[in-house]
Amino acid sequence: MALDSKIPSGSISEKWTNYKDHINLVNPANKRNLDIIVVGTGLAGGSAAATLAELGYNVKAFCFQDSPRRAHSIAAQGGINAAKNYQGDGDSVFRLFYDTVKGGDYRAREANVHRLAEVSTSIIDQCVAQGVPFAREYGGLLDNRSFGGTLVSRTFYAKGQTGQQLLLGAYSAMNRQIARGKIKMHNRHEMLDLVIVKGKARGIIARNLVTGEIERHSAHAVVIASGGYGNVFFLSTNAMGSNVTAAWKIHKRGAFFANPCYTQIHPTCIPVSGDHQAKLTLMSESLRNDGRIWVPAKLEDAQAIREGKLKPTQLKEEDRDYFLERRYPAFGNLVPRDIASRAAKERCDAGFGINKTGEAVYLDFAAAIIRYGIDQARLKHLDENDMNVVKKLGTDVVANKYGNLFQMYEKIVDEDPYTTPMMIYPAVHYTMGGTWVDYNLQTTIPGCFSIGESNFSDHGANRLGASALMQGLADGYFVLPYTIGDYLAPDIKMGTISTDSPEFEEAEQNVLNQINTLMNNGGTKPADYFHKKLGKIMWNQVGMARNEKGLNDAITEIAQIREDFYKDVRIPGTQNSFNPELAKALRVADFLELGELFAKDALHRNESCGGHFREEYQTPDGEAQRDDENFAYVAAWEYKGKPSDAVLHKEALVFDNVKLVQRSYK
Ligand SMILES: Cc1cc2nc3c(=O)[nH]c(=O)nc-3n(C[C@H](O)[C@H](O)[C@H](O)COP(=O)(O)OP(=O)(O)OC[C@H]3O[C@@H](n4cnc5c(N)ncnc54)[C@H](O)[C@@H]3O)c2cc1C
Repeated sequence: MALDSKIPSGSISEKWTNYKDHINLVNPANKRNLDIIVVGTGLAGGSAAATLAELGYNVKAFCFQDSPRRAHSIAAQGGINAAKNYQGDGDSVFRLFYDTVKGGDYRAREANVHRLAEVSTSIIDQCVAQGVPFAREYGGLLDNRSFGGTLVSRTFYAKGQTGQQLLLGAYSAMNRQIARGKIKMHNRHEMLDLVIVKGKARGIIARNLVTGEIERHSAHAVVIASGGYGNVFFLSTNAMGSNVTAAWKIHKRGAFFANPCYTQIHPTCIPVSGDHQAKLTLMSESLRNDGRIWVPAKLEDAQAIREGKLKPTQLKEEDRDYFLERRYPAFGNLVPRDIASRAAKERCDAGFGINKTGEAVYLDFAAAIIRYGIDQARLKHLDENDMNVVKKLGTDVVANKYGNLFQMYEKIVDEDPYTTPMMIYPAVHYTMGGTWVDYNLQTTIPGCFSIGESNFSDHGANRLGASALMQGLADGYFVLPYTIGDYLAPDIKMGTISTDSPEFEEAEQNVLNQINTLMNNGGTKPADYFHKKLGKIMWNQVGMARNEKGLNDAITEIAQIREDFYKDVRIPGTQNSFNPELAKALRVADFLELGELFAKDALHRNESCGGHFREEYQTPDGEAQRDDENFAYVAAWEYKGKPSDAVLHKEALVFDNVKLVQRSYK
């Protein structure tokens, strides 16, 4: 099957406008004859469901939590980008487009990224109208801060809880439609299969997580907004429930899975503390606006710190290595995440790590506290040479900006980050890969769309900070509502789709078979046992640095774990009741297939780009070495019975508007 990305013709800045001017529309009276299933109610699914219902479609929304407002999106801390240029610092739609393509190491589709940058400004207006309390400056205007990979301030934020506030906005918009009956909300339901009738997605099979009942739901189109799959690593900053099942099930039904190996490892997370940990905690990238990242410059100091004989605050300036500022003077601590993560790993691998495991670097706010303190002292006509006054004033400013993050850190690590530098280390955070979609956000299955983090997204091989929320809301509020109408226009007279058909029967049976197999195999080990084993392989061999041997080994080892899983997993309880262990096992089963495809994708990509770092392909100073001649494409995998048999399809990437050069942030 040839991949058709359906990119409209015309100049990059006119494509989206021309597209909207010429697509098929569904008239308002006919929209009420059309049903749409939306799987997922995070920022992508929530915004899509609300908008589609507002337009008049009948929406059936699904989430596995007890409420849409508990979607993983609520965890997003730092902010959301938009090319508003409120700071007058030279931002524009083109610059946001350019930064995103460059940040993604030239592995994203230009047309989608430009559209994203175009609609970014509308997102902020929409959210402000909903009442989202973005931070404001003294004069009342919306405030901005900087994120990595850019030279402007374009990130809108609500303290360290931007995702929560945005989700409350989308959730309110959804609730209005739930009250009107235009959205039928199915909380605590997990989609376990897609139903295809005559080549088109026409429904899903879902399990009611409270009663265990298997249900059939039909619609004229199905939208997957199920989030990312970072939990394939077991430990990640994602919510514990985040999983790949919905995306993987559509993959098995014919949706190509693109760039599975593009994973983002976030540089500023609280380091792993031990083997019994189930979750990692992010310290928002926004902290890199003011925090300086460093390790001791001398090995003996690093060792003394690790042994508790020396405190970081005792180390003189000249004995510290601010390695990002040293290596990347133009962007300093605000280099993109992939670069910052690798640089931290490089220092730790060289023996400069500062915690007991040697896998941590410092994020230090002392300089920012003094800088802000002096500024405030001057404004308030206080003595700027009185360090007690300056520190107090500076601490207040920092607390105002990042207070909840500092509090979270102190609760977890039991150290006061205002007086001693934070310890951080990279951790799995976001997955740029996902279901392949064309310009319409439609997968390779007609009528099955994918939005937000679940699609292979607009971020190429590395996502810039604060761009995931932008993409999820762009897809849900401003893109899908157009593109899905174009698809649905021929279906207006079709009527309700029956669930009483062989296709629904077959899909339901497929789900029941898998559940029966897992419930009745009389194994001895919990699903987590296998998930943890998978995670260790993923982190050690398919994580921040990958090589051919490690990847080949990983592929064999993951296939073996999968086999063991089916022989020996134990699920207590029954299938017709509330059974979280069963729900978990079904998710782990899919992670065990995805993990193998993930490694296979990483193995075939004989280059380094963005978050995909192959040790064999690096420049003499350790930077990612891209191979544009052979790898400037999206790798879209077609399922053929098992991960090892997946067939590769390539979508060639064309760069007409940005110059394809090796990325530099120096
Ligand atoms: C700690 C943290 C902080 C972050 N901070 C930022 C930030 O500051 N700025 C930024 O831009 N990005 C940030 N990100 C990334 C961003 O939060 C996510 O990419 C984004 O929220 C994903 O939104 P989504 O709607 O695609 O998916 P999610 O919010 O993950 O929602 C997924 C939805 O799908 C449902 N679902 C999944 N599978 C099924 C199924 N099988 N059946 C039924 N329902 C299902 C879930 O119930 C949920 O409703 C952060 C990520 C993390 C981990």
